[in-house]
Amino acid sequence: MSLARGRHFQAIPGPSAMPDEVLSAMHRDAPNIYEGSLIDVTLEVETRLKAVARAQKAGIVIYITNGHGAWEGALINLFSPGDKVLALYTGRFARGWADMARAMRVEIEEIDFGARSSVDPQRVEDALRRDKSIKAVLMVQTDTASSVRNDVLGVRRAIDAAGSDALFLVDCIASLGCEPYEMDAWGVDVTVAASQKGLMTPPGIGLNYVGEKARRARKSAQLVTPYWDWEPRLEPTAFHARFCGTPPTHHLFGLHAALGMIEREGLENVWERHRRLSGAVHAAVEAWGKGGTWELNIPDPANRSWAVSAIRTGIDANTLRTYCDAELDLTLGVGISLSSGAVGVREAGLFRIGHMGHLNPPAILGTLATIEAAMEALRLERGPGAVEAAAKALVKG
Ligand SMILES: *Cc1c(COP(=O)(O)O)cnc(C)c1O
Repeated sequence: MSLARGRHFQAIPGPSAMPDEVLSAMHRDAPNIYEGSLIDVTLEVETRLKAVARAQKAGIVIYITNGHGAWEGALINLFSPGDKVLALYTGRFARGWADMARAMRVEIEEIDFGARSSVDPQRVEDALRRDKSIKAVLMVQTDTASSVRNDVLGVRRAIDAAGSDALFLVDCIASLGCEPYEMDAWGVDVTVAASQKGLMTPPGIGLNYVGEKARRARKSAQLVTPYWDWEPRLEPTAFHARFCGTPPTHHLFGLHAALGMIEREGLENVWERHRRLSGAVHAAVEAWGKGGTWELNIPDPANRSWAVSAIRTGIDANTLRTYCDAELDLTLGVGISLSSGAVGVREAGLFRIGHMGHLNPPAILGTLATIEAAMEALRLERGPGAVEAAAKALVKG
């Protein structure tokens, strides 16, 4: 008998859970788009977005789009056909971004660090020393497919150590509002983000944080198209110019509420909460692994994301996912293929738990205990004590 009769629970890496406060803020009629509270809210959203990325020096571009659109926005403002970009692969997402650039006739030089480890800054430094024509370095902070977290500051130092003048682009779509990030202090030129992960707002807003150097590079970029162009959005002649048309009214109200929640909790407390909750997930998987084939995809604890965990199952993960979904009201994230070349392909031996955004201990411990129940029902071999280990890790920190 299916027990799926309460509020359905999603443990996927985006779109993440939406707080009631965000939903309430969006539950309203179409607002005045010429004057009044929407304008004030938008200006405050910009201020709060700067705070959440520690990016006081950046200009904020708010697109009506998803993460892929925000990727494209960043690329077309910086490059011309034939420009060379160094792309750092640690799973799936930087690869997807680089493929997009290649389709725009940007030349991609790639370093693949594999699907189970993080970017090695030394190799980035070596590549930049070898090839002085590289115009930009592109990476993700957290790769949502492999669940690795990369060392952004380490790559910044590698760029400097190589004496390179390359622009530095970082995708923080999965990590912003979950993991420590310091755009100004880490010398990032463009940060790409989106509304639906750590920022707890429905998909529909894509963000470019634009540093001074990136803005200068925009002047010579030949790929610029009118909708994505940063300049009119950063120097708007009227409110609607920020959006190249009608603003994303309800998303702005929602994002304003979400960023207000982050501000009230305190950004560093938000990071710490994610660290603690992710620690519980890691402890549970390690316990399962002592008596079965379960394994965190990222072996080194220092490189594990606080926002998402990819888990190797050794069995067909869809059996587990389907049971959780149909019988226990829990949706787990699908495994995204980590083998090179495969795009949008599911990986049978992998699933993911999203632990980003609006989450507390019952959400995480409930998810882990529910997975345990599914494993029991399906008679899947595993080590004992996973939920207990998770509870201990959560409390000890
Ligand atoms: C989710 C995600 C994307 C893609 O965002 P969409 O909104 O699905 O287009 C890109 N990069 C990372 C790191 C992500 O987590």
